Amino acid sequence: MSPNQKVAFYTLGCKLNFAETSTIGRQLFEAGFARVDFSEQADVYVINTCSVTEQANKKCRNIVSRALRNNPQGFVVVIGCYAQLKPDEIVEIPGVDLVLGAKEKFNLASYLDDLHKTEHGRAITEEIKQTREFIPSYSAGDRTRAFMKVQDGCNYFCSFCTIPLARGRSRSANVADTMVEARKLAQTEAREIVLTGVNIGDFGTTHDENFYALAAEMDKLEGIDRIRISSIEPNLLSNEIIDFVAGAKKFVPHFHIPLQSGSDDILRKMRRRYLTDLYKERVARIKEVMPNACIGVDVIVGFPGETDERFLETYNFLQELDITYLHVFTYSERPNTTAVRMDEIVPQDVRKKRNTMLRVLSEKKKRAFYESQQGFQTSALLEEEQDEGWMYGFTDNYIRVKVPFDKELINKIVAIELDAPDSECIMNAKLLNQITV
Ligand code: SF4
Repeated sequence: MSPNQKVAFYTLGCKLNFAETSTIGRQLFEAGFARVDFSEQADVYVINTCSVTEQANKKCRNIVSRALRNNPQGFVVVIGCYAQLKPDEIVEIPGVDLVLGAKEKFNLASYLDDLHKTEHGRAITEEIKQTREFIPSYSAGDRTRAFMKVQDGCNYFCSFCTIPLARGRSRSANVADTMVEARKLAQTEAREIVLTGVNIGDFGTTHDENFYALAAEMDKLEGIDRIRISSIEPNLLSNEIIDFVAGAKKFVPHFHIPLQSGSDDILRKMRRRYLTDLYKERVARIKEVMPNACIGVDVIVGFPGETDERFLETYNFLQELDITYLHVFTYSERPNTTAVRMDEIVPQDVRKKRNTMLRVLSEKKKRAFYESQQGFQTSALLEEEQDEGWMYGFTDNYIRVKVPFDKELINKIVAIELDAPDSECIMNAKLLNQITV
């Protein structure tokens, strides 16, 4: 490789992709590349794609054009879930030089040894069944919070989901090896780790271990103040894990639990591994042992067979449930899934209307939760970003707060008293003697 080569990254999709981009970025840095912004002139542009994104192809094309506008001679590499699923489609996009699949993306540096000699227009992907190796990743770009990938892939095959096809079978490192990575991360400036994975509750099963064993070790990690679980399937969120979090030193009272539908008929059609009763029980247990816990919920509207009645079941179920916010997704047909062959298709305008209804419900729930926390004394981890004299952060139970900007408080955990949410649902907070914890 010639010296002083520059690489720029563009990441689409989930936190897992961001963690992987960071790791690949570090690999290229070690190989001698300098990292620059995507809007700058770079020798290599890497686009890490997502297959869940609507119009993945169009998005990918747009980003390739942006790269080539910044440097018409730039070498363009496409990786990520969409690259694994549709390599032949992507390699046809004008300007794409290399497409790497789920396994090959972690060897990117070796493909860039000598750009002038590298063949253009190649797609290198293995069948996803062959991808059994787990490559740990973490993002450490943000001073405050780092995303650590502890698990990859999924064995569940929910009827709407292409992730198992793009990321392969469920796998992870064992607890001991995961802790080696966690200790590296603890040496960065990050004060909070968000544990991420495709199906994180499945951690360790390939090593006869489990997520609880990992959590118990992580809670002893020196150099990190908070640990958050990004998202966990309700059937894998055991009482043991809930009770552990309630008594943990570093794990925070914040859960994100995919529900997808509040109708048992739809859950069966989705091939989810629980019904609404179990979900209700999980929420009740969390609230019993952690009354101020924040609970986020993923939900999909417009799945085939979601009649008005079944949607109302979902709406009412969520309205009554003691949860904090919703992430609402509109169902969209994906090739190679079983749902794509189902009938009773919901018209697009109905999907859109239902999405809006649930977003409004989410806003109401969130505001009610914030208001219930008024007057509480707690702590917040403050971030770098500032805006019109304010700085922002999150409490342990994921309340977005703002306090007057003070450079000294960036990346500090401060004691605060919660006041009231503003019009954008950000909580005003009062610093308590500016004591940093
Ligand atoms: S649990 Fe279901 S929705 Fe989640 S990744 Fe696995 S197959 Fe997809």
